[in-house]
Amino acid sequence: MTATASATASDAAPAAAHYRFFALEVLRTRRLGHSFLRVTFGGDRLAEFRSGGYDQSVSLFLPVGDREHTELPSTDEDTWFAAWRAMPEEERPVMRSYTVREQRRTEAGTDEVDVDFVLHGDTSPASRWAGRAVTGRRIMAIGPAVAENKSVRFQRPEGSETVLMYADETALPAAGAILDRLPAGTRVKAWFEVPHADDRLGLHTLADADITWIVREKGADAAARTGRVLDALRAAELPASGTPYAWLAGEAGTIRAVRRHLVQERSIDRRAVRFTGYWRLGASEEQLLAEAYAGTAPSEDPTADL
Ligand SMILES: Cc1cc2nc3c(=O)[nH]c(=O)nc-3n(C[C@H](O)[C@H](O)[C@H](O)COP(=O)(O)OP(=O)(O)OC[C@H]3O[C@@H](n4cnc5c(N)ncnc54)[C@H](O)[C@@H]3O)c2cc1C
Repeated sequence: MTATASATASDAAPAAAHYRFFALEVLRTRRLGHSFLRVTFGGDRLAEFRSGGYDQSVSLFLPVGDREHTELPSTDEDTWFAAWRAMPEEERPVMRSYTVREQRRTEAGTDEVDVDFVLHGDTSPASRWAGRAVTGRRIMAIGPAVAENKSVRFQRPEGSETVLMYADETALPAAGAILDRLPAGTRVKAWFEVPHADDRLGLHTLADADITWIVREKGADAAARTGRVLDALRAAELPASGTPYAWLAGEAGTIRAVRRHLVQERSIDRRAVRFTGYWRLGASEEQLLAEAYAGTAPSEDPTADL
């Protein structure tokens, strides 16, 4: 249901019953690293929010301009989309995909959801909103009403004891949530690419994880960024045994290159490679959504051309 860099039109509209609207309120924020801000949300009906864990994503509706809170003309399953699209652009909240880093019930019996935002500047609506988020700000979200939903993309098949992961900073929250859940005995080889050394966040896992951090060079262009990631992958020895399952998420161009590397150079079965473009250099999520509606978005199907 989230709009992704390679979403389909059906992804963009929620499947009835699997998703519903939640009113969220900022409870607190915390800087995690150079680029990361954790926003902790509460909400009256969060007890009905059923994160499936792993890379569970949500669609956030964030206010634009100087508006403090999100107001939508309709949250009815059948009418919200048309009503939201019909809003004047300067008033229409932006819809953005984010990951549920953690959902928990507090000792006081209230429910909280953490979302880790990458702060990548003041001109992009979501990054700008996060940079100004203060306690009490209210937004709307479409989130899971059932834990088994299509926005959990990490679906490791039975019998694959080795997990390969690549994530850039936008997918580090998802990677962290996946690592949280992996059981002891799982072998993980992961490459995490971040903009700053201070973004190498502490991650917890019971799995046997070997993590390589790739700190991006300041000012590097797209080709240099992807080249550096591929160099790190090529230099690595992959676990020799265990059927691998690969999960890749981040900037769409880099994801395409990493997928090709794994399938063509490492002979990994393409059906075992789950890949998602979380964003694309030079394209806002509106542009990606427009491609999804037009049916021209790149496929997320593991069997798709490389
Ligand atoms: C399933 C899914 C889960 C995601 N989870 C998270 C998450 O937990 N945390 C998170 O921070 N992001 C996450 N993202 C990525 C996030 O949705 C995008 O980065 C989004 O574009 C941010 O919106 P914006 O309004 O800031 O920028 P937009 O208005 O969408 O884009 C404006 C410009 O900024 C560029 N841009 C977008 N993101 C970045 C970036 N991170 N760094 C540099 N330039 C950028 C675009 O290419 C464009 O040129 C997720 C995406 C998907 C599909």
